[in-house]
Amino acid sequence: MIRQNKIFLAGNTMKLITNDFKNEPYWWEKTPRPEVANIHLPKHAEVLIIGAGYTGLSAAIQIARGGREVVVVDAEQAGWGCSSRNGGQVSSSIKPDYPSLSAKVGEDSAFNIIQEGHNALQWIADFIEQEAIDCDFRRVGRYCAAHSQRQFDALDKQLSATPAAFSVDSHMVEKKDQYEELGTDAYYGGMVSTKHASLDPGRYHQGLYEIARDAGVVIIPFCKVDDINRNRVGFEISTAKGKIEADKVVVATSGYTGKATPWHQRRIIPIGSYMIATEEIDKSLMDKLMPKDRVITDTKKLVVYYRSSPDRKRILFGGRVSIGETPLLTSAPRLHQLMVNIFPELSACKISHCWMGFVGYTFDNLPHLGHEDGLYYSMGYCGSGISLSSYMGARIGQQLLGLVDGKTALDDREFQTRPLYRGKPWFLAPSVSYYRIKDKFT
Ligand SMILES: Cc1cc2nc3c(=O)[nH]c(=O)nc-3n(C[C@H](O)[C@H](O)[C@H](O)COP(=O)(O)OP(=O)(O)OC[C@H]3O[C@@H](n4cnc5c(N)ncnc54)[C@H](O)[C@@H]3O)c2cc1C
Repeated sequence: MIRQNKIFLAGNTMKLITNDFKNEPYWWEKTPRPEVANIHLPKHAEVLIIGAGYTGLSAAIQIARGGREVVVVDAEQAGWGCSSRNGGQVSSSIKPDYPSLSAKVGEDSAFNIIQEGHNALQWIADFIEQEAIDCDFRRVGRYCAAHSQRQFDALDKQLSATPAAFSVDSHMVEKKDQYEELGTDAYYGGMVSTKHASLDPGRYHQGLYEIARDAGVVIIPFCKVDDINRNRVGFEISTAKGKIEADKVVVATSGYTGKATPWHQRRIIPIGSYMIATEEIDKSLMDKLMPKDRVITDTKKLVVYYRSSPDRKRILFGGRVSIGETPLLTSAPRLHQLMVNIFPELSACKISHCWMGFVGYTFDNLPHLGHEDGLYYSMGYCGSGISLSSYMGARIGQQLLGLVDGKTALDDREFQTRPLYRGKPWFLAPSVSYYRIKDKFT
């Protein structure tokens, strides 16, 4: 619990918020991280998976159901990374839009890659239904709010340039009709994507965890991998709990990728994303602010994202609020101010939780899966990873089993790095400053 008695918020009316908030994800209230007894690390596994988030567990489920012996290790508790910290907005998002992606990779490749985003959204919906995962998955639709008239026009143009197969479920909303979507005058209208969804990320992770365990997967927390070496049979992996040999290894560490896999570390850009949950608000106010229960994002480069909690009692609000990474005591009031800029009605509303996590970005803004030097991997979902990590985790698991179903349009695409980049994004601060200015003038 962080005591936050005297924090002044910038603005014309300086405001004192007196608040005690918990510095852990709101989702952990309902679904604490799984407590497990001290599990012994076996000497050998057919497949060792590093990382027990959505990617690692989705891969593990496929591989174990394919008849292989699977051990998943995590440096922390299972799901401690992004997979229990996110905003629960389930999208089809491949980051680049169709017009800009096709300018880079050609129309056919762009179509196939964006199709994978839509496949991922359908895949997660089907999986949750088939496996009866109780995680408040709802097709609420997403509202992408335009922060300027120019951005509204750009969204409209982008939608018109998008193939009908992808644009059919989206439509523009004029500013005059915005109150039907969102109770604010802060935006210039926006775009609704009706198939996008929301879920409770902690409960979804718990569902994957239980399915994996039922399939025979051994999940070992607090077992950080320090080093991976090739040997006669496959790999020898040194961990905090000793050594283990494995025939095959899957790297599922995304924004938390570290020194144990230096090739991947050079290709992932870890960027902190910060969230707050508000205290409970009146139902009538929630119905006014978020009448359709959409998940919301905006057109800024330094995007904010928000939604109501599954019980519609709180607002969960996220974004990036500083040039470098920042303590929660600093990020919480800044997020609160951004939220109040959109919904002035919430100026006196206290924060109940504040937390952050590291999103795995990539240099080409695309997620990547494949194998390099015998290590399988799937990572770099660029902030839209709930559906992509689940789908691509499953696909990499199928590829490891040699199944044709595992093929995707993202397979083995060049996974770029930059000269001298070793996993510490020194360029982040200047980029954030540049985007701040850009957001003001576009
Ligand atoms: C604040 C926030 C909000 C987000 N909101 C959304 C959203 O609304 N919608 C959306 O689609 N996406 C969102 N995301 C992104 C999404 O959560 C991630 O893309 C997704 O969870 C990635 O899953 P993963 O399994 O690949 O990685 P993670 O869940 O991050 O798991 C990686 C795991 O690897 C472990 N690990 C790392 N190194 C080692 C090692 N050496 N040895 C052992 N274990 C190791 C870590 O401990 C960690 O548990 C958000 C992310 C954050 C941080």
